[in-house]
Amino acid sequence: MATLEIRDLHVSVDDGSPEPKEILRGVNLTVKAGETHAIMGPNGSGKSTLAYAIAGHPKYAVTSGTVTLDGEDVLDMTVDERSRAGVFLAMQYPVEVPGVSVSNFLRTAITAVRGEAPKLREFAKEMRDAMENLQIDPAFAQRNLNEGFSGGEKKRHEILQMELLKPKVAVLDETDSGLDIDALKVVSEGVNRFRGGGETGVLLITHYTRILRYVKPDFVHVFAGGRIVEEGGPELAELLEAEGYEKFVKAGASA
Ligand code: ADP
Ligand code: MG
Ligand code: MG
Repeated sequence: MATLEIRDLHVSVDDGSPEPKEILRGVNLTVKAGETHAIMGPNGSGKSTLAYAIAGHPKYAVTSGTVTLDGEDVLDMTVDERSRAGVFLAMQYPVEVPGVSVSNFLRTAITAVRGEAPKLREFAKEMRDAMENLQIDPAFAQRNLNEGFSGGEKKRHEILQMELLKPKVAVLDETDSGLDIDALKVVSEGVNRFRGGGETGVLLITHYTRILRYVKPDFVHVFAGGRIVEEGGPELAELLEAEGYEKFVKAGASA
């Protein structure tokens, strides 16, 4: 059973100042296949930084601590090696790529992860089925990657990638983007269908509690000041919805 383990992770960001700024200050988290973990917290608490550090973004330097997948050192891997190992990061390819269609991109990504190109006909069917599940218009496959994608289209594309790549761990940063309610439901259903297989651990990063009405997390972790300050089950998300982050922000500042 796949396990992602994050131990005492410290991460600094290069913000252009002489001294790199420490953002993550000792994060500990274990995500196993079949589990859904929600990371919640106020803006600026370091949630996206955690995702970027797992992704291997060059601006985010791990200064100490470890990240392993089934005991393998993830931090030692290149970005490509991370995805081959089964780590999926939704924001890994945020750029517009002129001349590369969604369909081409997905086939290339699958080839990289599986180590061989899927047969065209099988790939076409896989993609069609996955797109149908996500209520994506078939014409979407021929669009240029990320070009003019709406917030909802970006999210659907993320879930589409996840369905096709079948990662061991998926990190989905909601980035608090304005998903309309229909897109939110489609994305949630995608995540639910996907995690139902029990082979993937999901790390769902979000500021708002609303997606957690559709995707029930097994565990909720509250982030404040670059570390986890509270942990619990789904009831913690309800408490946050009712009371907000304020008391946790204080805890994060004094820790
Ligand atoms: P969250 O996702 O919880 O809103 P972030 O991880 O985006 O938080 O940001 C945490 C802190 O790190 C913020 O103070 C933010 O300004 C800072 N930060 C993150 N990325 C950068 C960056 N690339 N350059 C400068 N500061 C950054
Ligand atoms: Mg520490
Ligand atoms: Mg963020």
